[in-house]
Amino acid sequence: MRSKRILRALELAPVAALYGLVEERSAPSGRLDASEEPRVIAAPMANAGGTVASMGWTELREAVRTCAACVLCRQRKQAVFGVGSESGPWLFIGEGPGADEDEQGDPFVGQAGKLLDAMLAAIGIARGREAYIANVVKCRPPGNRTPTPEEAAACAPFLDRQVELIRPRLIVALGKTAAIRLLATEASLASLRGRVHSYRGTPLVVTYHPAYLLRNLPDKAKAWEDLLFARRTLAAAA
Ligand code: URA
Repeated sequence: MRSKRILRALELAPVAALYGLVEERSAPSGRLDASEEPRVIAAPMANAGGTVASMGWTELREAVRTCAACVLCRQRKQAVFGVGSESGPWLFIGEGPGADEDEQGDPFVGQAGKLLDAMLAAIGIARGREAYIANVVKCRPPGNRTPTPEEAAACAPFLDRQVELIRPRLIVALGKTAAIRLLATEASLASLRGRVHSYRGTPLVVTYHPAYLLRNLPDKAKAWEDLLFARRTLAAAA
């Protein structure tokens, strides 16, 4: 009881519920009023009769589509699940949907996405064929702000399940938000580049977020080095 209260105070109860650690009360259906206290519900999991960790692609997609596990559900047009090969070797993880992604329902379809696709093409990767692209959070943060740690934590079971289902040979964390979420570190992006990390046993490398590169063109060369490093890492792991 006391631990439930603490989880609620930290806004972590819904996250614990998503992982099946505690039961969480369901919220009424429909959009939450923006003036309400932030609240998280685990209704999609309850409806699906299990926790996210045991879901297949169809259930998982539906759970994400109907998720109200954090305040980001209030202003989204739609949740952005992820796109690409569900069994390919590469998994690229960005931060969260922007306006274009919120509108179209796929990750990285705006300017940053065009740059990402161009960089992937340059090392011979096509998003639909060898790579899957997902985000730390599935719903657009208002004004494209950085997702809060609580929002990233609320979405973590979904991303973790995607990683488990895809079983990629290499994860590429695009930018600081993805690196922080996956490596649980506050270290600078610069210090994380050029090394092979691990996320739950899967090799992981870090590079700049394409949106950052659009604002900092000289760092494109470093991102290019990172992608070559990633490709070598994948080849070595084969
Ligand atoms: N930036 C991201 O991190 N993800 C997207 O899907 C689009 C822009």
